[in-house]
Amino acid sequence: MKYPEASTLPFNTSPLNGEFIYTHPGVTDPGDRGFWIIVQGDSLVLDVADGNYVLFEGKTPSWIDSRAESLFIGFWQGKPVRILEVGSGITIPDRYLAEPLLQTFFHERLPDNLLSLLGRSQQIISWQRKSALCPRCGGSTDMIHGTWGRNCRSCGYQHFPAIHPCTLVLVTRAAEVLLIRKAEWPPGYYSLPSGFCDFGESLEECAKREVEEETGIRISNLRYVGSQCWPFPGQLMAGFTAEFAEGEIVVDREELEEAAWFPRNALPPTFSQKSIAGWMMKTFA
Ligand SMILES: [Zn+2]
Repeated sequence: MKYPEASTLPFNTSPLNGEFIYTHPGVTDPGDRGFWIIVQGDSLVLDVADGNYVLFEGKTPSWIDSRAESLFIGFWQGKPVRILEVGSGITIPDRYLAEPLLQTFFHERLPDNLLSLLGRSQQIISWQRKSALCPRCGGSTDMIHGTWGRNCRSCGYQHFPAIHPCTLVLVTRAAEVLLIRKAEWPPGYYSLPSGFCDFGESLEECAKREVEEETGIRISNLRYVGSQCWPFPGQLMAGFTAEFAEGEIVVDREELEEAAWFPRNALPPTFSQKSIAGWMMKTFA
């Protein structure tokens, strides 16, 4: 089995296999040639070598404005790696890939080690963009040394990156599995009930509530099976299995197009097994 445990899924740290040494923010860039994670708006820009998508390596690519600011984040395969944001006015040469990471992920065009590096980079970029100003008073902020936290120059408020826990649940009833479908998904695709933790909730409470809210089904024997970092923009997906306890399906039409029981041996199309939802359906259904 390609992913024996959820921790081995892309975007988590395990697929990096020690190839990435993460430095704390504020560590000085050693200034050598190295790797470049290039970002333009919502798109990630990758180089192409022998038909594979790879990070830019060497000096800064010549088509990039030399004034673009880079952020050193550590060492990738022994060389410095930096995030470089380029402005919307720069034209990306046609021969490169430029698309959002989630799209690249679902097209399965990148190896898992790069997905984990780029997922982490995406979370860093997202945080850098939204943390420059204080959320309390709007003042300018400075980095709190050794962390990603920011300290407000005006009011002293400190804020830190938020990671949002979500749960997803694979519910079985004898030889059937409970699946849901959202209108925006590709035609025919189904996946697992899921949702964000609310104030005052444990993961288990969130899991039970989400299944009942979305489908009307109450569950028992909830068991944790693993988690996956989901950097779009900063979720932590916690997966559970559970058994049907009681109830008839009542679809939450605000959120879902459909919810239904499917036979385990005739499941509908779903998302990549590189996502914890797809992995759970493959592993436990
Ligand atoms: Zn402030």
